[in-house]
Amino acid sequence: MLIGVPREIKNHEYRVGLTPQAVAELVQHGHSVWVETAAGEAIGFADQAYRAAGAQLTDAGSIFEQADLIIKVKEPQAGERKQLRSGQTLFTYLHLAPDPEQTTDLLASRATCIAYETVTDAQGRLPLLAPMSEVAGRMAIQAGASCLEKARGGRGVLLGGVPGVPRGRVVILGGGVVGANALAMAVGMGADVVVLDKNPHVLRQLDERYGNRIQTLFSTQAEVATQLQQADLVIGAVLIPGAAAPRLISRKLLADMLPGAVLVDVAIDQGGCAETSRPTTHADPTYVVDDVIHYCVANMPGAVARTSTQALNNATLPFVLALANKGIKKALAEDRYLLTGLNVAAGQLTNAEVADALQREW
Ligand code: NAD
Repeated sequence: MLIGVPREIKNHEYRVGLTPQAVAELVQHGHSVWVETAAGEAIGFADQAYRAAGAQLTDAGSIFEQADLIIKVKEPQAGERKQLRSGQTLFTYLHLAPDPEQTTDLLASRATCIAYETVTDAQGRLPLLAPMSEVAGRMAIQAGASCLEKARGGRGVLLGGVPGVPRGRVVILGGGVVGANALAMAVGMGADVVVLDKNPHVLRQLDERYGNRIQTLFSTQAEVATQLQQADLVIGAVLIPGAAAPRLISRKLLADMLPGAVLVDVAIDQGGCAETSRPTTHADPTYVVDDVIHYCVANMPGAVARTSTQALNNATLPFVLALANKGIKKALAEDRYLLTGLNVAAGQLTNAEVADALQREW
């Protein structure tokens, strides 16, 4: 099969669909891989590394014209969508639900479009979203620790403390993938950590893993309010699948927080868990409300694009190999979890949840 990897053209997107290592695996399985010149240059994957892995370097036009399977990271931009065609398969993040314009173009292209974010696993989890939550969760502590420094407007607290001085207190709202990864980093830095979740099973698992090194608490409004008042750093990591993030931090609760405390609202891509959260960018990541520093970057993994690309490839490569080795139809027919990723085929919307969400949008 001819597999194509165009360079990402969305603003400030430095990730790339396949690493040179992933290309080498596909080539070993007898496939041809075309990679756009300079596709991975910004994150240290040089053209030479792709060549050494067996790829052919070319331009985006040739890839869209000839490739049977196109591997990307972000949703295709308008110019890319025009080039997609019948008989071609696109495998990437699509996020069609809030995007009728993209959906219309993909339907018109008659290409087969499989979305990373709706591929599932046997436990009903989202294995191609999880790596980005892992990255964002770990980054949240790094970003929060830096915002706590005086020069960034923070309280001037070191998360690990030093002998004879209290540790910084980290309150993590939500103990799922983001929360558990934030927790691992916060514990590693020696912080005093509290995790709140609505799901007792999640709390039990974290308690078993960390024992008395952390405090797990069932999430009620009253408990959230109490914990916020004592926090140096709050991580918003809640999710109700398919819905806006629950608003756990009202303006009133925010006003009761310590001056110079930091809120890293990772859940901002679902609207955020604080009344005062609004999306920010890596170029200007923070703002202050009521003396609380808000960090609300909606695409946190983009800042560590090399790590994110590698993490994404680890998760996508088995599916890319299945699609290439078995052929698209057989791979989809034999794997119902990959099949849930199918969003568009032959000019039809093929994922019921995405279709329902779009119906509300249209
Ligand atoms: P997840 O489903 O693994 O975990 C969410 C957790 O929130 C669950 O354990 C759930 O029980 C808990 N929860 C729900 N309501 C709660 C409440 N009222 N109080 C306490 N806990 C509650 O989800 P995840 O993968 O960890 O993702 C969390 C959020 O981070 C999502 O909105 C996701 O889209 C977002 N995210 C953002 C970025 C970014 O760059 N900003 C990157 C990756 C993920």
